[in-house]
Amino acid sequence: MQADIVFLMTCAIRENAENKVWHKLRELERAKRSGAVKKFGLLGCMAERLKTKVLEEVPTIDVIGGPDSYRHLPKLLAVNSLTGQNAVNVLLSLDETYDDVLTDVHPHSSTITSRTSAYVSITRGCNNLCSYCIVPHTRGRERSRSIETILKEVRHYVDAGVREIILLGQNVNSYRDFGGDQVEGKEQQQVKLAAGFRTLYKLKSGGIGFDVLLDEVARAHPDVRIRFTSPHPKDFTDEVIEVIARHPNIAKGLHMPAQSGSDAVLERMRRGYTKAAYLSLVERIRAAIPGCAINSDFICGFCGETDADHQETLDLVERVGYLVAYIFAYSMRERTHAHYHLVDDVPQEVKIARLTELNQLYRLSSLRMNQATVGTRQLLLIEGVSKKSPDQLYGRNEANQKVVLTRRATEDGSGDDLIDVGDFVDARIVGCTSVTLLGEPVAKSSITAFYA
Ligand code: SAH
Ligand code: SF4
Repeated sequence: MQADIVFLMTCAIRENAENKVWHKLRELERAKRSGAVKKFGLLGCMAERLKTKVLEEVPTIDVIGGPDSYRHLPKLLAVNSLTGQNAVNVLLSLDETYDDVLTDVHPHSSTITSRTSAYVSITRGCNNLCSYCIVPHTRGRERSRSIETILKEVRHYVDAGVREIILLGQNVNSYRDFGGDQVEGKEQQQVKLAAGFRTLYKLKSGGIGFDVLLDEVARAHPDVRIRFTSPHPKDFTDEVIEVIARHPNIAKGLHMPAQSGSDAVLERMRRGYTKAAYLSLVERIRAAIPGCAINSDFICGFCGETDADHQETLDLVERVGYLVAYIFAYSMRERTHAHYHLVDDVPQEVKIARLTELNQLYRLSSLRMNQATVGTRQLLLIEGVSKKSPDQLYGRNEANQKVVLTRRATEDGSGDDLIDVGDFVDARIVGCTSVTLLGEPVAKSSITAFYA
C-alpha cells in the first residue's frame, strides 16, 4: 500500500463489521509508521460510535469524521496538518443530506468493465428506534433530499450512460420532501403507512412522499431500470405499490425486511407490526404485482427468542417464499433500547443453528423460483464479463437474479459482438443452479421494447 491519505469508510451495525475495521486500523497504523501511508482517517458510523476508544487505541490516527462531517474533511485535514494533532468531528446534523453533492459516475459492479449502475442517496438517518438497532444513534434523525436535486443527480448519471439507478436510504421508502409546498403543481399529502403498521414516533403531515418521487424518476427515464433499498415494510403504502405496478422500469424485486415471524419477538424488537400484518402486505403486493420477487432480512436469536418463536419465523419464510434472505445472528449494540432493557440470552451456538436452519429453508424457495424461470424470456441488464471465461457475460433480470449468458450470436441475428456490458438483452433461460440462471441471448432489447 502506498498513499498520501487513506480513509476507512465504516459501518457499525453488527460487531463483525467493526472487528474488520479494527484489524484495518492496525494495518494502517503500521503503514504510517513505515512511511507507506502519510495520513489515515476513520469515517462513518463506527467513527461516531467509538471515537474515544479509537483515539486511545490508535493514537497516530489523523482524522475521525462521523457520517455528517464529510463537508468538513478539508478543514479537518488542514487542522491536522497545522497542529499535528488528531482532528475529530462526529457531530450529527438535523439537516445534512449532501443534497448538492454530485459525485462522478462510479460503477459499483465487481468488474471494471461494468458502468451500468449508480446509487443515488435520497434519505439519511432513521426515526424508527427498533430496539436492537444502532442506526438511529449513529446516523441521527431521518431527513430527505429535495425531489429536484434527486432528479438532477439521476439525470447526471443517465446522461453518462448508466442504465440502472438504485435509490438509497436507511429507510428509503420513508422518503418525504418537506420543502414540497414550494413545488408548483404538486399537492401536499398526509403521511400514510401501510395498513396494519404503526410507528413509535409521531407521524408528520405534509410534504411529498416516496410514491411521487418514484413516479417522477420512472417517468423521466423509461429505459432505465430503477431499484431502491433498504425499504421498511410499513412504508409500502397502496400508492407506492400502485406506482411500482404501473411502471415497467421499476424492478419487480422488492426487499421487505421482516426480522422475525414471532409476534412476541416483533413486539420486543419494536417493529410496529405483527406477522399477520406483514403477510397481508405480502398478499397485497403479490396481487398488485404478479410474480414480484420478495427478499428479506432476519435476525436470529434476539433477546428472549424461544424455539417456538423461531418456528414462527420458519413458518413465515415458508409462507412467503423469499428469493433472497439475509440472515444475521443477533449482535448486541450499545446505546440501543435492547442494550439497556433486554438480556442477550440466546447462546451463540443456538443463534448459529437457527441461522443455518433459516438459510437452508429459504434456499428451497429460492431454488424453486430459479427453476420456474427455465423456459421463460427475461430482460437482462448486462453487468460484466465473467471472470471464469471471456465467452460468458453476466447480468440481472428484474427480480435481481444473476444470469450467466453465453456470448453467442443472438437468435434474431443482431450479432454477438453487438452485445456488451450496459445492454439490455432479451434472453431465454435454459437452466439454473441454486444461485444462478443460465441464459441464451435472443435479441438486444430495451425496457420499453421488451414490455411493449
Ligand atoms: N432499515 C431496514 C434495515 C436496515 S439495517 C429495516 O429496518 O428494515 C440492515 C439489517 O441489519 C437489518 O434489517 C437487520 O436484519 C440487521 N441488523 C440490524 N441491527 C442488528 C443487530 N444488532 N444484530 C444483528 N443484525 C442486525
Ligand atoms: Fe434500524 Fe431499520 Fe429499525 Fe431504522 S428501521 S432502527 S435502520 S432496523
